Amino acid sequence: MLDDGFRYALPILRIGVRSLMRVLHAAAELFPWVKTGGLGDVVAALPPALAAAGLDVRLVLPGFTAFLDAFPLTEIARLRTPFAAGRVRLVRAQLPGSGVHAYVVDHPAFYDRPGSPYAAPDGHDWPDNHRRFALLGWVAAALAQGADPDWRPDILHCHDWHAGLAPAYLRAEGAAVPSVFTVHNLAYQGAFPAALFADLALPASFFSIDGIEFYGGFALIKAGLFYADRLTTVSPTYASEIQTASFGMGLDGLLRARADVLSGILNGVDPLIWSPQNDPLLPLRYGVDDAAVGKAAAKAALERRFGLTGAGAAPLFGAVTRLTPQKGLDLLLAALPGLIALGGRLVLLCSGDSDLEAGFAAAAQNYPGQVGVVLGYDDALSHLIMAGSDSIVVPSRFEPCGLTQLYALRYGALPLVRRTGGLADTVVDTNRVTLADGSATGFVFDEETPEGFLAAIRRATALYDDDVSWQRVMRQAMTRDFSWAAAARQYVALYRQLVSNSG
Ligand code: ADP
Repeated sequence: MLDDGFRYALPILRIGVRSLMRVLHAAAELFPWVKTGGLGDVVAALPPALAAAGLDVRLVLPGFTAFLDAFPLTEIARLRTPFAAGRVRLVRAQLPGSGVHAYVVDHPAFYDRPGSPYAAPDGHDWPDNHRRFALLGWVAAALAQGADPDWRPDILHCHDWHAGLAPAYLRAEGAAVPSVFTVHNLAYQGAFPAALFADLALPASFFSIDGIEFYGGFALIKAGLFYADRLTTVSPTYASEIQTASFGMGLDGLLRARADVLSGILNGVDPLIWSPQNDPLLPLRYGVDDAAVGKAAAKAALERRFGLTGAGAAPLFGAVTRLTPQKGLDLLLAALPGLIALGGRLVLLCSGDSDLEAGFAAAAQNYPGQVGVVLGYDDALSHLIMAGSDSIVVPSRFEPCGLTQLYALRYGALPLVRRTGGLADTVVDTNRVTLADGSATGFVFDEETPEGFLAAIRRATALYDDDVSWQRVMRQAMTRDFSWAAAARQYVALYRQLVSNSG
Protein backbone atom coordinates (compact mmCIF):
# COMPACT_ATOMS: atom_id res chain seq x y z
CA MET A 1 0.00 0.00 0.00
CA LEU A 2 1.24 3.47 -0.79
CA ASP A 3 0.99 5.88 2.08
CA ASP A 4 -1.49 8.73 2.46
CA GLY A 5 1.07 11.21 1.30
CA PHE A 6 0.97 9.74 -2.18
CA ARG A 7 -2.72 10.28 -2.62
CA TYR A 8 -2.77 13.65 -0.94
CA ALA A 9 0.31 15.20 -2.47
CA LEU A 10 -1.66 16.89 -5.22
CA PRO A 11 -4.48 18.52 -3.26
CA ILE A 12 -2.11 19.75 -0.59
CA LEU A 13 -0.01 21.47 -3.24
CA ARG A 14 -3.12 23.11 -4.63
CA ILE A 15 -4.33 24.54 -1.34
CA GLY A 16 -3.73 28.23 -1.39
CA VAL A 17 -4.16 28.52 -5.14
CA ARG A 18 -7.94 28.60 -4.69
CA SER A 19 -10.42 27.04 -2.34
CA LEU A 20 -11.19 23.42 -3.14
CA MET A 21 -14.58 22.34 -4.38
CA ARG A 22 -16.25 20.26 -1.64
CA VAL A 23 -18.20 17.16 -2.54
CA LEU A 24 -20.05 14.84 -0.15
CA HIS A 25 -20.66 11.26 -1.35
CA ALA A 26 -23.55 9.35 0.22
CA ALA A 27 -23.43 5.55 -0.10
CA ALA A 28 -24.18 2.32 1.76
CA GLU A 29 -21.02 0.34 0.96
CA LEU A 30 -17.29 0.93 1.25
CA PHE A 31 -14.65 -1.70 0.55
CA PRO A 32 -13.07 -3.40 2.49
CA TRP A 33 -15.51 -3.00 5.37
CA VAL A 34 -18.88 -3.36 3.65
CA LYS A 35 -19.17 -4.71 0.12
CA THR A 36 -21.83 -6.74 -1.64
CA GLY A 37 -20.68 -5.88 -5.18
CA GLY A 38 -19.03 -3.27 -7.36
CA LEU A 39 -20.60 -0.35 -5.44
CA GLY A 40 -18.26 -0.94 -2.48
CA ASP A 41 -15.22 -0.89 -4.76
CA VAL A 42 -16.31 2.31 -6.50
CA VAL A 43 -17.05 4.16 -3.26
CA ALA A 44 -13.59 3.16 -1.99
CA ALA A 45 -11.76 4.30 -5.12
CA LEU A 46 -13.61 7.32 -6.51
CA PRO A 47 -13.30 9.74 -3.54
CA PRO A 48 -9.49 9.33 -3.30
CA ALA A 49 -9.24 9.78 -7.08
CA LEU A 50 -11.30 12.98 -6.81
CA ALA A 51 -9.09 14.14 -3.95
CA ALA A 52 -6.05 13.51 -6.11
CA ALA A 53 -7.72 15.61 -8.81
CA GLY A 54 -7.88 18.53 -6.39
CA LEU A 55 -11.27 18.22 -4.67
CA ASP A 56 -12.14 18.19 -0.98
CA VAL A 57 -14.20 14.97 -0.73
CA ARG A 58 -16.02 13.31 2.15
CA LEU A 59 -18.38 10.38 2.55
CA VAL A 60 -21.50 9.75 4.59
CA LEU A 61 -22.26 6.11 5.45
CA PRO A 62 -24.86 4.19 7.49
CA GLY A 63 -23.56 3.15 10.91
CA PHE A 64 -23.00 -0.53 10.20
CA THR A 65 -20.91 -2.08 12.96
CA ALA A 66 -18.21 -2.95 10.40
CA PHE A 67 -17.64 0.81 10.03
CA LEU A 68 -18.06 1.74 13.69
CA ASP A 69 -15.60 -0.95 14.78
CA ALA A 70 -13.04 -0.09 12.13
CA PHE A 71 -11.91 3.45 12.92
CA PRO A 72 -11.57 5.89 15.80
CA LEU A 73 -14.61 8.18 15.71
CA THR A 74 -15.24 11.75 16.72
CA GLU A 75 -18.73 12.91 17.56
CA ILE A 76 -19.83 15.80 15.34
CA ALA A 77 -23.47 16.31 16.29
CA ARG A 78 -26.57 14.73 17.78
CA LEU A 79 -29.38 15.17 15.30
CA ARG A 80 -33.10 15.21 15.90
CA THR A 81 -34.53 13.27 12.94
CA PRO A 82 -37.98 12.04 11.89
CA PHE A 83 -36.81 8.41 12.30
CA ALA A 84 -36.04 7.98 15.98
CA ALA A 85 -37.46 9.13 19.29
CA GLY A 86 -34.00 10.01 20.61
CA ARG A 87 -31.25 11.93 18.88
CA VAL A 88 -29.06 10.21 16.27
CA ARG A 89 -25.32 10.51 16.71
CA LEU A 90 -23.32 11.75 13.74
CA VAL A 91 -19.68 10.72 14.04
CA ARG A 92 -16.68 11.25 11.81
CA ALA A 93 -13.61 9.16 11.02
CA GLN A 94 -10.55 9.48 8.86
CA LEU A 95 -10.34 6.44 6.60
CA PRO A 96 -7.11 4.48 6.85
CA GLY A 97 -5.36 4.17 3.52
CA SER A 98 -6.93 7.12 1.74
CA GLY A 99 -7.20 9.71 4.52
CA VAL A 100 -10.65 10.72 3.22
CA HIS A 101 -13.07 11.74 6.00
CA ALA A 102 -16.27 9.76 6.43
CA TYR A 103 -19.34 10.73 8.45
CA VAL A 104 -21.11 7.73 9.95
CA VAL A 105 -24.77 7.80 11.01
CA ASP A 106 -24.62 5.99 14.34
CA HIS A 107 -28.08 4.56 15.02
CA PRO A 108 -27.71 0.99 16.30
CA ALA A 109 -31.47 0.32 16.21
CA PHE A 110 -31.24 0.58 12.39
CA TYR A 111 -27.77 -0.64 11.54
CA ASP A 112 -26.44 -2.96 14.26
CA ARG A 113 -27.93 -6.12 12.80
CA PRO A 114 -26.62 -9.49 11.59
CA GLY A 115 -26.74 -10.49 7.93
CA SER A 116 -25.97 -8.36 4.89
CA PRO A 117 -26.40 -4.57 4.84
CA TYR A 118 -29.86 -5.01 3.36
CA ALA A 119 -31.15 -8.41 4.47
CA ALA A 120 -31.48 -10.62 7.54
CA PRO A 121 -29.40 -13.82 7.77
CA ASP A 122 -32.37 -15.72 6.27
CA GLY A 123 -31.95 -13.64 3.09
CA HIS A 124 -35.14 -11.59 3.49
CA ASP A 125 -34.83 -7.83 3.16
CA TRP A 126 -35.32 -6.00 6.44
CA PRO A 127 -38.96 -4.78 6.46
CA ASP A 128 -37.91 -1.30 7.62
CA ASN A 129 -35.29 -0.76 4.87
CA HIS A 130 -37.18 2.31 3.69
CA ARG A 131 -36.62 3.95 7.10
CA ARG A 132 -33.04 2.66 7.47
CA PHE A 133 -32.03 4.28 4.19
CA ALA A 134 -34.33 7.28 4.53
CA LEU A 135 -32.22 8.14 7.57
CA LEU A 136 -29.05 7.96 5.45
CA GLY A 137 -30.57 10.25 2.81
CA TRP A 138 -31.94 12.60 5.45
CA VAL A 139 -28.56 12.95 7.19
CA ALA A 140 -26.80 13.46 3.84
CA ALA A 141 -29.24 16.30 3.09
CA ALA A 142 -28.67 17.70 6.59
CA LEU A 143 -24.88 17.68 6.05
CA ALA A 144 -25.41 19.43 2.73
CA GLN A 145 -27.19 22.15 4.70
CA GLY A 146 -24.56 22.57 7.38
CA ALA A 147 -25.09 19.83 10.01
CA ASP A 148 -21.31 19.90 10.47
CA PRO A 149 -20.56 23.56 11.14
CA ASP A 150 -16.93 23.01 10.08
CA TRP A 151 -17.53 21.49 6.65
CA ARG A 152 -20.33 22.08 4.21
CA PRO A 153 -20.30 20.56 0.72
CA ASP A 154 -20.84 22.45 -2.54
CA ILE A 155 -22.29 19.30 -4.12
CA LEU A 156 -24.04 16.19 -2.81
CA HIS A 157 -23.28 13.04 -4.82
CA CYS A 158 -25.57 10.08 -4.04
CA HIS A 159 -25.04 6.46 -5.03
CA ASP A 160 -27.82 3.96 -5.78
CA TRP A 161 -31.24 3.66 -4.14
CA HIS A 162 -29.77 3.57 -0.62
CA ALA A 163 -28.97 7.28 -0.91
CA GLY A 164 -31.75 8.11 -3.38
CA LEU A 165 -33.91 10.07 -0.94
CA ALA A 166 -31.24 12.70 -0.23
CA PRO A 167 -32.10 14.83 -3.30
CA ALA A 168 -35.80 14.53 -2.35
CA TYR A 169 -35.11 15.88 1.14
CA LEU A 170 -33.05 18.72 -0.34
CA ARG A 171 -35.99 19.61 -2.59
CA ALA A 172 -38.52 19.30 0.23
CA GLU A 173 -36.43 21.64 2.36
CA GLY A 174 -35.90 24.11 -0.49
CA ALA A 175 -32.12 23.71 -0.23
CA ALA A 176 -30.12 25.06 -3.15
CA VAL A 177 -27.26 22.52 -2.92
CA PRO A 178 -26.88 20.81 -6.32
CA SER A 179 -26.99 17.02 -6.36
CA VAL A 180 -25.75 14.17 -8.53
CA PHE A 181 -27.30 10.70 -8.49
CA THR A 182 -25.30 7.75 -9.83
CA VAL A 183 -27.00 4.51 -10.85
CA HIS A 184 -24.71 1.54 -10.27
CA ASN A 185 -27.47 -0.93 -11.12
CA LEU A 186 -31.01 -0.01 -12.14
CA ALA A 187 -32.27 -3.46 -11.13
CA TYR A 188 -32.00 -2.60 -7.43
CA GLN A 189 -34.68 -0.01 -6.81
CA GLY A 190 -35.58 0.12 -3.15
CA ALA A 191 -39.30 -0.32 -3.92
CA PHE A 192 -41.87 -0.30 -1.10
CA PRO A 193 -45.69 -0.32 -0.72
CA ALA A 194 -47.55 2.99 -0.64
CA ALA A 195 -48.63 2.46 2.98
CA LEU A 196 -45.04 3.07 4.12
CA PHE A 197 -44.71 6.45 2.37
CA ALA A 198 -45.84 8.31 5.50
CA ASP A 199 -42.73 6.98 7.30
CA LEU A 200 -40.45 9.03 5.02
CA ALA A 201 -41.49 12.42 6.39
CA LEU A 202 -41.76 13.89 2.90
CA PRO A 203 -44.56 16.23 1.72
CA ALA A 204 -47.63 14.27 0.53
CA SER A 205 -47.24 15.89 -2.91
CA PHE A 206 -44.01 13.89 -3.45
CA PHE A 207 -46.11 10.73 -3.72
CA SER A 208 -46.83 11.38 -7.36
CA ILE A 209 -45.79 10.16 -10.78
CA ASP A 210 -43.80 13.41 -10.85
CA GLY A 211 -42.07 12.36 -7.65
CA ILE A 212 -41.26 9.06 -6.00
CA GLU A 213 -44.45 7.13 -6.73
CA PHE A 214 -43.67 3.97 -8.71
CA TYR A 215 -46.38 1.61 -9.96
CA GLY A 216 -48.64 2.32 -7.01
CA GLY A 217 -45.88 2.12 -4.37
CA PHE A 218 -42.71 4.18 -4.19
CA ALA A 219 -39.08 3.57 -5.03
CA LEU A 220 -36.05 5.20 -3.46
CA ILE A 221 -34.14 4.98 -6.73
CA LYS A 222 -36.85 7.04 -8.38
CA ALA A 223 -36.36 9.77 -5.78
CA GLY A 224 -32.73 10.06 -6.92
CA LEU A 225 -33.62 9.89 -10.60
CA PHE A 226 -36.39 12.46 -10.31
CA TYR A 227 -34.96 15.02 -7.88
CA ALA A 228 -31.19 15.02 -8.49
CA ASP A 229 -29.86 17.77 -10.75
CA ARG A 230 -27.56 15.48 -12.73
CA LEU A 231 -27.74 11.73 -13.31
CA THR A 232 -24.86 9.47 -14.16
CA THR A 233 -24.37 5.80 -14.62
CA VAL A 234 -21.23 3.77 -14.82
CA SER A 235 -20.75 3.32 -18.57
CA PRO A 236 -21.82 5.21 -21.70
CA THR A 237 -23.52 2.16 -23.24
CA TYR A 238 -25.58 1.47 -20.09
CA ALA A 239 -26.59 5.17 -20.09
CA SER A 240 -28.17 4.61 -23.52
CA GLU A 241 -29.54 1.16 -22.75
CA ILE A 242 -31.47 2.25 -19.64
CA GLN A 243 -33.47 4.66 -21.77
CA THR A 244 -35.05 1.67 -23.55
CA ALA A 245 -37.92 -0.54 -22.39
CA SER A 246 -35.68 -3.65 -22.46
CA PHE A 247 -33.18 -2.29 -19.92
CA GLY A 248 -35.14 0.50 -18.22
CA MET A 249 -36.76 -1.63 -15.47
CA GLY A 250 -39.88 0.53 -15.64
CA LEU A 251 -37.86 3.74 -15.32
CA ASP A 252 -36.96 4.25 -18.98
CA GLY A 253 -39.69 6.87 -19.51
CA LEU A 254 -38.29 9.04 -16.73
CA LEU A 255 -34.74 8.46 -17.97
CA ARG A 256 -35.69 9.47 -21.52
CA ALA A 257 -37.36 12.59 -20.14
CA ARG A 258 -34.13 13.42 -18.29
CA ALA A 259 -31.75 12.35 -21.06
CA ASP A 260 -30.27 15.87 -21.24
CA VAL A 261 -28.86 15.54 -17.70
CA LEU A 262 -27.89 11.84 -17.92
CA SER A 263 -24.39 10.68 -18.85
CA GLY A 264 -22.22 7.58 -18.53
CA ILE A 265 -18.79 7.67 -16.88
CA LEU A 266 -16.84 4.41 -16.87
CA ASN A 267 -15.60 3.08 -13.56
CA GLY A 268 -11.87 2.59 -13.16
CA VAL A 269 -9.66 0.11 -11.40
CA ASP A 270 -8.06 0.89 -8.05
CA PRO A 271 -4.36 0.26 -8.75
CA LEU A 272 -3.60 -0.08 -5.05
CA ILE A 273 -5.85 -3.13 -4.82
CA TRP A 274 -5.78 -4.54 -8.35
CA SER A 275 -2.28 -4.55 -9.87
CA PRO A 276 -0.44 -7.81 -10.53
CA GLN A 277 2.84 -5.88 -10.06
CA ASN A 278 2.18 -5.30 -6.38
CA ASP A 279 -0.57 -7.71 -5.38
CA PRO A 280 0.39 -9.41 -2.10
CA LEU A 281 -2.29 -12.07 -2.67
CA LEU A 282 -0.42 -13.66 -5.60
CA PRO A 283 2.29 -16.33 -5.30
CA LEU A 284 4.47 -14.28 -7.64
CA ARG A 285 3.92 -10.66 -8.64
CA TYR A 286 4.21 -9.89 -12.33
CA GLY A 287 4.03 -7.18 -14.96
CA VAL A 288 3.59 -7.18 -18.72
CA ASP A 289 7.11 -8.44 -19.37
CA ASP A 290 7.12 -11.38 -16.96
CA ALA A 291 3.42 -12.22 -17.15
CA ALA A 292 4.07 -15.76 -18.40
CA VAL A 293 6.04 -16.67 -15.26
CA GLY A 294 3.72 -14.91 -12.83
CA LYS A 295 0.58 -16.33 -14.37
CA ALA A 296 2.04 -19.84 -14.46
CA ALA A 297 2.71 -19.64 -10.71
CA ALA A 298 -0.84 -18.44 -10.05
CA LYS A 299 -2.27 -21.12 -12.33
CA ALA A 300 -0.32 -23.81 -10.47
CA ALA A 301 -1.73 -22.48 -7.18
CA LEU A 302 -5.25 -22.59 -8.60
CA GLU A 303 -4.73 -26.14 -9.87
CA ARG A 304 -3.62 -27.24 -6.40
CA ARG A 305 -6.45 -25.42 -4.68
CA PHE A 306 -9.15 -26.87 -6.96
CA GLY A 307 -7.51 -30.23 -7.62
CA LEU A 308 -7.38 -29.54 -11.35
CA THR A 309 -5.48 -31.89 -13.61
CA GLY A 310 -4.59 -32.23 -17.26
CA ALA A 311 -3.47 -28.79 -18.43
CA GLY A 312 -4.57 -29.07 -22.04
CA ALA A 313 -4.51 -27.13 -25.25
CA ALA A 314 -7.52 -25.08 -24.15
CA PRO A 315 -7.68 -22.14 -21.75
CA LEU A 316 -8.41 -22.27 -18.03
CA PHE A 317 -11.57 -20.17 -17.77
CA GLY A 318 -12.49 -18.40 -14.55
CA ALA A 319 -15.35 -16.37 -13.11
CA VAL A 320 -15.89 -14.40 -9.90
CA THR A 321 -19.47 -13.37 -9.58
CA ARG A 322 -22.77 -13.05 -7.82
CA LEU A 323 -25.24 -15.64 -9.12
CA THR A 324 -28.28 -13.68 -10.28
CA PRO A 325 -30.17 -13.82 -13.59
CA GLN A 326 -28.32 -10.61 -14.56
CA LYS A 327 -24.95 -12.32 -14.64
CA GLY A 328 -25.96 -15.02 -17.18
CA LEU A 329 -24.15 -17.84 -15.38
CA ASP A 330 -26.98 -20.16 -16.43
CA LEU A 331 -25.54 -19.78 -19.95
CA LEU A 332 -22.18 -20.97 -18.64
CA LEU A 333 -23.76 -23.93 -16.86
CA ALA A 334 -25.60 -24.95 -20.03
CA ALA A 335 -22.46 -24.50 -22.16
CA LEU A 336 -20.21 -26.36 -19.71
CA PRO A 337 -20.30 -29.79 -21.45
CA GLY A 338 -19.23 -28.05 -24.67
CA LEU A 339 -16.45 -26.17 -22.86
CA ILE A 340 -15.17 -29.41 -21.36
CA ALA A 341 -15.40 -31.20 -24.73
CA LEU A 342 -13.07 -28.54 -26.15
CA GLY A 343 -10.54 -29.40 -23.45
CA GLY A 344 -11.28 -26.29 -21.41
CA ARG A 345 -11.25 -26.12 -17.62
CA LEU A 346 -13.19 -23.84 -15.29
CA VAL A 347 -12.68 -22.31 -11.85
CA LEU A 348 -15.60 -20.49 -10.33
CA LEU A 349 -16.00 -18.38 -7.20
CA CYS A 350 -19.61 -17.44 -6.76
CA SER A 351 -22.60 -17.15 -4.49
CA GLY A 352 -26.27 -16.36 -4.85
CA ASP A 353 -29.13 -18.19 -6.56
CA SER A 354 -29.48 -21.57 -4.85
CA ASP A 355 -30.39 -23.51 -8.04
CA LEU A 356 -27.29 -22.23 -9.80
CA GLU A 357 -25.15 -22.91 -6.73
CA ALA A 358 -26.44 -26.50 -6.74
CA GLY A 359 -25.90 -26.77 -10.50
CA PHE A 360 -22.27 -25.68 -10.30
CA ALA A 361 -21.60 -27.84 -7.22
CA ALA A 362 -22.90 -30.82 -9.20
CA ALA A 363 -20.74 -29.82 -12.21
CA ALA A 364 -17.64 -29.85 -9.98
CA GLN A 365 -18.53 -33.42 -8.97
CA ASN A 366 -19.29 -34.51 -12.54
CA TYR A 367 -16.06 -33.09 -13.94
CA PRO A 368 -13.44 -33.71 -11.25
CA GLY A 369 -10.07 -32.27 -12.22
CA GLN A 370 -11.68 -30.03 -14.84
CA VAL A 371 -14.18 -27.91 -12.93
CA GLY A 372 -13.50 -26.35 -9.54
CA VAL A 373 -16.14 -24.39 -7.66
CA VAL A 374 -16.04 -22.43 -4.43
CA LEU A 375 -19.43 -21.23 -3.24
CA GLY A 376 -19.11 -18.16 -1.08
CA TYR A 377 -17.25 -14.88 -0.92
CA ASP A 378 -13.45 -14.89 -0.82
CA ASP A 379 -11.50 -11.76 -1.63
CA ALA A 380 -8.07 -13.44 -1.69
CA LEU A 381 -9.24 -16.23 -3.98
CA SER A 382 -10.78 -13.67 -6.35
CA HIS A 383 -7.29 -12.20 -6.90
CA LEU A 384 -5.75 -15.63 -7.50
CA ILE A 385 -8.46 -16.47 -10.06
CA MET A 386 -7.77 -13.24 -11.98
CA ALA A 387 -4.07 -14.06 -12.11
CA GLY A 388 -4.22 -17.82 -12.69
CA SER A 389 -6.97 -17.94 -15.31
CA ASP A 390 -6.30 -17.57 -19.01
CA SER A 391 -9.71 -16.03 -19.57
CA ILE A 392 -12.42 -14.57 -17.31
CA VAL A 393 -15.99 -15.08 -18.50
CA VAL A 394 -18.71 -12.47 -17.93
CA PRO A 395 -21.80 -13.57 -19.90
CA SER A 396 -24.11 -10.92 -18.39
CA ARG A 397 -27.58 -10.19 -19.74
CA PHE A 398 -27.01 -6.58 -18.67
CA GLU A 399 -24.00 -5.04 -16.97
CA PRO A 400 -23.92 -1.39 -15.84
CA CYS A 401 -20.10 -1.34 -15.89
CA GLY A 402 -18.68 -4.60 -14.61
CA LEU A 403 -15.42 -4.65 -12.71
CA THR A 404 -14.21 -8.22 -13.06
CA GLN A 405 -13.51 -7.80 -16.79
CA LEU A 406 -11.42 -4.71 -15.96
CA TYR A 407 -9.44 -6.64 -13.34
CA ALA A 408 -9.10 -9.48 -15.86
CA LEU A 409 -7.60 -7.11 -18.44
CA ARG A 410 -4.97 -5.89 -15.97
CA TYR A 411 -4.15 -9.44 -14.88
CA GLY A 412 -3.83 -10.73 -18.48
CA ALA A 413 -6.86 -13.06 -18.26
CA LEU A 414 -8.55 -12.24 -21.56
CA PRO A 415 -12.17 -11.33 -20.78
CA LEU A 416 -14.89 -13.21 -22.64
CA VAL A 417 -18.02 -11.08 -22.33
CA ARG A 418 -21.49 -10.39 -23.70
CA ARG A 419 -21.80 -7.18 -25.69
CA THR A 420 -23.80 -5.11 -23.21
CA GLY A 421 -23.30 -2.06 -20.96
CA GLY A 422 -19.80 -1.52 -19.67
CA LEU A 423 -18.65 -4.87 -21.06
CA ALA A 424 -19.26 -3.51 -24.58
CA ASP A 425 -17.36 -0.33 -23.68
CA THR A 426 -14.26 -1.98 -22.24
CA VAL A 427 -13.48 -5.20 -24.14
CA VAL A 428 -12.43 -5.24 -27.81
CA ASP A 429 -13.31 -8.47 -29.60
CA THR A 430 -10.46 -10.39 -31.21
CA ASN A 431 -10.89 -10.74 -34.97
CA ARG A 432 -8.73 -10.32 -38.03
CA VAL A 433 -9.04 -6.53 -38.04
CA THR A 434 -8.44 -5.98 -34.30
CA LEU A 435 -5.58 -8.48 -34.26
CA ALA A 436 -3.96 -6.59 -37.12
CA ASP A 437 -4.45 -3.10 -35.68
CA GLY A 438 -3.43 -4.13 -32.17
CA SER A 439 -6.71 -3.23 -30.44
CA ALA A 440 -7.95 -6.74 -29.55
CA THR A 441 -8.21 -7.41 -25.81
CA GLY A 442 -10.71 -10.28 -25.41
CA PHE A 443 -13.78 -11.97 -26.83
CA VAL A 444 -17.23 -10.46 -27.22
CA PHE A 445 -20.46 -12.26 -28.15
CA ASP A 446 -23.99 -11.05 -28.78
CA GLU A 447 -26.48 -13.88 -28.55
CA GLU A 448 -27.96 -14.46 -25.11
CA THR A 449 -27.79 -18.25 -25.58
CA PRO A 450 -25.50 -21.13 -24.53
CA GLU A 451 -24.65 -21.59 -28.24
CA GLY A 452 -23.62 -17.94 -28.62
CA PHE A 453 -21.49 -18.22 -25.50
CA LEU A 454 -19.95 -21.50 -26.63
CA ALA A 455 -19.06 -20.03 -30.04
CA ALA A 456 -16.98 -17.40 -28.20
CA ILE A 457 -15.39 -20.15 -26.05
CA ARG A 458 -14.47 -21.88 -29.30
CA ARG A 459 -12.87 -18.71 -30.69
CA ALA A 460 -10.91 -18.24 -27.46
CA THR A 461 -9.71 -21.81 -27.63
CA ALA A 462 -8.59 -21.36 -31.24
CA LEU A 463 -6.57 -18.26 -30.33
CA TYR A 464 -5.07 -20.05 -27.31
CA ASP A 465 -3.70 -22.61 -29.76
CA ASP A 466 -1.74 -19.80 -31.42
CA ASP A 467 0.53 -18.82 -28.54
CA VAL A 468 2.15 -15.85 -30.27
CA SER A 469 -1.21 -14.20 -30.98
CA TRP A 470 -2.53 -15.04 -27.50
CA GLN A 471 0.52 -13.43 -25.87
CA ARG A 472 0.12 -10.36 -28.08
CA VAL A 473 -3.54 -9.89 -27.13
CA MET A 474 -2.61 -10.46 -23.48
CA ARG A 475 -0.05 -7.66 -23.66
CA GLN A 476 -2.63 -5.37 -25.25
CA ALA A 477 -5.15 -6.23 -22.54
CA MET A 478 -2.67 -5.60 -19.73
CA THR A 479 -1.67 -2.20 -21.05
CA ARG A 480 -5.18 -0.77 -21.53
CA ASP A 481 -5.70 2.16 -19.20
CA PHE A 482 -8.84 2.13 -17.07
CA SER A 483 -7.64 4.47 -14.38
CA TRP A 484 -9.79 6.24 -11.83
CA ALA A 485 -7.94 9.43 -12.79
CA ALA A 486 -9.77 9.42 -16.15
CA ALA A 487 -13.14 8.89 -14.44
CA ALA A 488 -12.34 11.54 -11.84
CA ARG A 489 -11.61 14.12 -14.57
CA GLN A 490 -15.09 13.56 -16.02
CA TYR A 491 -16.80 13.85 -12.61
CA VAL A 492 -14.86 17.05 -11.90
CA ALA A 493 -16.04 18.52 -15.22
CA LEU A 494 -19.62 17.61 -14.33
CA TYR A 495 -19.31 19.13 -10.82
CA ARG A 496 -17.86 22.34 -12.30
CA GLN A 497 -20.83 22.70 -14.65
CA LEU A 498 -23.24 22.11 -11.79
CA VAL A 499 -21.63 24.64 -9.50
CA SER A 500 -21.42 27.27 -12.22
CA ASN A 501 -25.08 26.65 -13.21
CA SER A 502 -26.27 26.98 -9.64
CA GLY A 503 -23.92 29.83 -8.68
P1 ADP B 1 -21.74 -6.45 -9.32
O1 ADP B 1 -21.51 -5.17 -8.61
O2 ADP B 1 -22.95 -6.44 -10.22
O3 ADP B 1 -21.71 -7.65 -8.44
P2 ADP B 1 -19.16 -5.94 -10.57
O4 ADP B 1 -18.40 -6.70 -11.59
O5 ADP B 1 -19.37 -4.48 -10.81
O6 ADP B 1 -20.54 -6.69 -10.36
O7 ADP B 1 -18.43 -6.05 -9.16
C1 ADP B 1 -18.31 -7.27 -8.49
C2 ADP B 1 -17.25 -7.13 -7.43
O8 ADP B 1 -17.49 -8.11 -6.43
C3 ADP B 1 -15.86 -7.40 -7.96
O9 ADP B 1 -14.92 -6.72 -7.16
C4 ADP B 1 -15.74 -8.92 -7.74
O10 ADP B 1 -14.39 -9.32 -7.65
C5 ADP B 1 -16.44 -9.06 -6.42
N1 ADP B 1 -17.04 -10.38 -6.20
C6 ADP B 1 -18.18 -10.89 -6.74
N2 ADP B 1 -18.43 -12.11 -6.26
C7 ADP B 1 -17.42 -12.42 -5.41
C8 ADP B 1 -17.10 -13.56 -4.59
N3 ADP B 1 -17.88 -14.62 -4.58
N4 ADP B 1 -15.98 -13.51 -3.83
C9 ADP B 1 -15.18 -12.42 -3.87
N5 ADP B 1 -15.42 -11.32 -4.61
C10 ADP B 1 -16.53 -11.31 -5.36
